[in-house]
Amino acid sequence: MIPSILPTYNRAPLSFVRGEGAWLIEEDGRRFLDLGAGIAVNALGHAHPALVQAVTDQASKLWHVSNLYRIPGQQELADRLTEATFADTVFFTNSGTEAMELAVKMVRKYWYEKGEDRSEIVAFTGAFHGRSSAAIAAAGSEKMTKGFGPLLPGFIQVPFGDHDATSAAITDRTAAVIIEPVQGEGGIIPVPDQCLKGLRDLCDQTGALLIFDEVQCGMGRTGRLFAHEWAGVTPDIMMVAKGIGGGFPLGAVLATEAAASGMTAGTHGSTYGGNPLAMAVGNAVMKIVADDDFLAEVNRKAGAFRQKLEGLVAAHPDVFEAVRGQCLMLGLKCKATNTDVVAAAYGETLLTVPAADNVIRLLPPLTITDDEIAEAVTRLDRAAQAVERAKETA
Ligand SMILES: *Cc1c(COP(=O)(O)O)cnc(C)c1O
Repeated sequence: MIPSILPTYNRAPLSFVRGEGAWLIEEDGRRFLDLGAGIAVNALGHAHPALVQAVTDQASKLWHVSNLYRIPGQQELADRLTEATFADTVFFTNSGTEAMELAVKMVRKYWYEKGEDRSEIVAFTGAFHGRSSAAIAAAGSEKMTKGFGPLLPGFIQVPFGDHDATSAAITDRTAAVIIEPVQGEGGIIPVPDQCLKGLRDLCDQTGALLIFDEVQCGMGRTGRLFAHEWAGVTPDIMMVAKGIGGGFPLGAVLATEAAASGMTAGTHGSTYGGNPLAMAVGNAVMKIVADDDFLAEVNRKAGAFRQKLEGLVAAHPDVFEAVRGQCLMLGLKCKATNTDVVAAAYGETLLTVPAADNVIRLLPPLTITDDEIAEAVTRLDRAAQAVERAKETA
């Protein structure tokens, strides 16, 4: 018999009833140290006082009005985002997937308005852009697309990191190129700065628009407000979600004036996107994260974390292979099966998240403390020992 919850997830037998900072409290009272943060969503941890305040204040005033009317919080957050980035304009969504949908529509409309037949979108193997028809067609992996055809046409996948294939794929038929500056689901794989620069050049040469998907790597996770800032290049369009809502469903598409030029009144919309509750939280998150001192602290803590993780990997060569990633978007490439390590970490009341390429992801709240980082490494060490013991007895 089918469960009453559609069984698309293999869920761990854990039910959390409360959160405090980097901690999640299980129904049975156990306190889990949360290095998953809702998959990079709870950027400021659980129940951050500023976010609780923002959402309760707004909840007592106004939850929802249609986008048929002006929403002051939306104007405020759009101003914050355009001020802090390359972008001239912002559309608010409820998720990363919805941001993907708009990004695809936006680039196709751009070329339509120019009177050019350019609809091809170049994406990369191992990419993840969501679960909608456009998003799975872009990622192209069989795991996501099998059985869901016919797929939305016009997407081309290039092997991640293959420079020659990339330059061959980007032509004067290309509408846009989409890439995660740090692949998340793909296994925490940063794109080298040189490659992002090279992509920008290829797009400039051919006129193709460049889309950065910063849904997972954005909002301070890599130690800059957005990951692409490290490479010193900017996209034409950027997708944001996850961390920007701090746990409230919120996403956004940021674009230059030129890239957005086709999106006139009536060409796109959202019932909930940019609603007052989401905007209250988004503004509160941005106030904290888009701050040089906050980001400097994130970088400092991450440096110490990484050093400890290098030691952990060296101490457990049969379990771990390497540390990868950037700042607080970290991955441990495993030698043991990654899901076994995640399960062993559950046993040590520590939450991590598996990714492709046999990696476990460490995406703690950006507010994690030095003591909590030390505690996390202690628990990872015990989890690794448990995996080693299991291997010996197997
Ligand atoms: C999570 C994610 C998405 C999809 O976002 P949802 O909010 O789950 O729809 C898109 N792109 C990347 C890089 C992501 O990590």
